[in-house]
Amino acid sequence: MRPEMMKIFENMRSDNALSIQSARESGLRVVGIFCAYSPMELVIAAGAIPVSLCGTRQEPIAAAEKVLPRNLCPLIKSSFGFAVTDTCPYFRASEFIIAETTCDGKKKMFELLGQIKPLHVLHLPQGTNRPGALRWWLEELYLLKERLEEHLGVAISSDDLRSAIRICNRERTALKNLHELNRLNPAPLTGLDMLTTIFVKGFNVDKEEGTGLINQLADQVRNIAAQGISPFSKGTPRILLTGCPVGIGSEKVVRLLEECGGSVVCFESCSGIKTMEYLVDEDENRDPMEAIAERYLRIPCSCMSPNPGRLELLGRLIHEYGVDGVVDLTWQACHTYIIEGELVRRHVKDNFGLPYIQLETDYSTSDIEQLKTRISAFIEILGGS
Ligand code: SF4
Ligand code: SF4
Repeated sequence: MRPEMMKIFENMRSDNALSIQSARESGLRVVGIFCAYSPMELVIAAGAIPVSLCGTRQEPIAAAEKVLPRNLCPLIKSSFGFAVTDTCPYFRASEFIIAETTCDGKKKMFELLGQIKPLHVLHLPQGTNRPGALRWWLEELYLLKERLEEHLGVAISSDDLRSAIRICNRERTALKNLHELNRLNPAPLTGLDMLTTIFVKGFNVDKEEGTGLINQLADQVRNIAAQGISPFSKGTPRILLTGCPVGIGSEKVVRLLEECGGSVVCFESCSGIKTMEYLVDEDENRDPMEAIAERYLRIPCSCMSPNPGRLELLGRLIHEYGVDGVVDLTWQACHTYIIEGELVRRHVKDNFGLPYIQLETDYSTSDIEQLKTRISAFIEILGGS
């Protein structure tokens, strides 16, 4: 039995596109972000709506390839393609963009994007544990705060920041509670439904309302699970998906994993736990900017070197979700994730004795049959059919 609430989540992206348009017309400000390192709290504290501009669709890629090299990650090409074709309502609604210096492809693409929209380059340290990294990052966040205040004509107070911290923490907690329901065996929610729910959070006009809907969905999933109902039979191989961010439009690997007999129980990537796991410290006695800086610097992305947090998180999730195998999804030409895959493979095999597969692909459907063959063989190794 599929939770009734899923119908709402399925339509949310297009529904929210209409809401964002009317929000703009009624004077609300919209700020576009591209990465999990962008502190949403600052945007919300400035009275604006943060929206995710990460491209997850194939359609605008051809237009992007007229300017960008073909041999570039599809996420970057899709994001840029939406901008140059003016086909993304969220990009259109954004009056200001936060551009994070994560991977080389993205940061150079931002130089072109800056010719289309006002944009602030948010510089990230290259390693999270280096002495001085946090201090340096905090200064960057103060610069961003100034730019937002200047561009939006507002002053961001500590109280504004504290209220935004609470809003974002509530959303993270709701998503994590929902995600954790898939620790049950068999999982009560398909990976595809989980992804749909997680994905649309980036387009919520009203975060509080969105959080309420996630909690309602979690209640429905709990009720379904309490009746012993699951879309999967006992013994279905349980898969943890790690690697590059995935969304609706770029969900082909998630779909194939489940069509071929697996159950994607855990998303470790930025589309999943990586963005829900760490909360901003709500201690009223702390400088909220410092608390925000600390939380964001904990995100274990492959653009950091070294990136031990990812291996630590993976190990914990493998236990918590009773995982049978790990799938590492990497977008073509994403060098940081492709190379880090070797460390992940060794970690998963040597420390947990689990099967691991890296799938390198793009947003097109040209390799579906080849992927199907590899995925079916992997599921068979995990003991499924
Ligand atoms: S994978 Fe890294 S670069 Fe991509 S959104 Fe996540 S934190 Fe940002
Ligand atoms: S998937 Fe990799 S190459 Fe693409 S934007 Fe993210 S970090 Fe950069």
